[in-house]
Amino acid sequence: GIRSENRQFAVIGLGRFGRAVCQTLHKLGYEVLGTDINESLVAQALAEKIASSVIELDSTKPNALKEAGIFEFDTVIVAIGNYLEESIITTLNAKEGGVKYVIAKASSDIHGKLLKRVGADKVVFPEYDSGRELAYTLTKPAILERFDLDPDHSIIETRIPEEFHGKTIEELKLRTRYRISILAIGREDKFNINPEPKEKLNKDLVMVVIGNNKDIQRLPI
Ligand code: ADP
Repeated sequence: GIRSENRQFAVIGLGRFGRAVCQTLHKLGYEVLGTDINESLVAQALAEKIASSVIELDSTKPNALKEAGIFEFDTVIVAIGNYLEESIITTLNAKEGGVKYVIAKASSDIHGKLLKRVGADKVVFPEYDSGRELAYTLTKPAILERFDLDPDHSIIETRIPEEFHGKTIEELKLRTRYRISILAIGREDKFNINPEPKEKLNKDLVMVVIGNNKDIQRLPI
């Protein structure tokens, strides 16, 4: 996992994405250093106190990163989406400088591939992800949470559909009819993990389901 209590983060690039990352980490109480090459963005970040500290630097220069202590951070977020060359060089610099975990924002598939090639440990595609999420929300508003296992399989939490109300898991033949498995049934404060096949479903509860995205999409929710 990438979560741990006393981690320190450095965010390179204070565009819309980088600022959101900085601000959120800072609000959550984490130590976060924000950097940008643009003087006025640095001044703005300082004025708005979106990070523990803010430094103006050119991240394509390994020495600038070294002097700012960026290589000592255990997680560096490269939030330079719209400047391909700068994004690639910065990611390479961070990995060569010994940063353990580098997350980089990509703005296209090929950008993502290049970032992986130069050593990014994780590549994120925020525009793609939020577009896809919006589509899911529009078509399946009952889905409360979604965890992607791989591009084709997910675990979701959803309200139990009316159609399933009062019926048992066995009766509904969810495995053969929908090719999905119920991992848990419950409400926010209490879940019944691995429910028995004779368990009755109730529309006021939620269920956690694992399956292929296409099969999940076929659920009557
Ligand atoms: P968003 O789409 O999230 O607004 P952008 O990719 O447009 O993000 O912004 C990236 C930020 O990275 C900009 O603020 C830009 O000034 C900064 N940036 C670009 N090149 C460098 C660099 N060499 N060193 C540091 N910051 C940079």
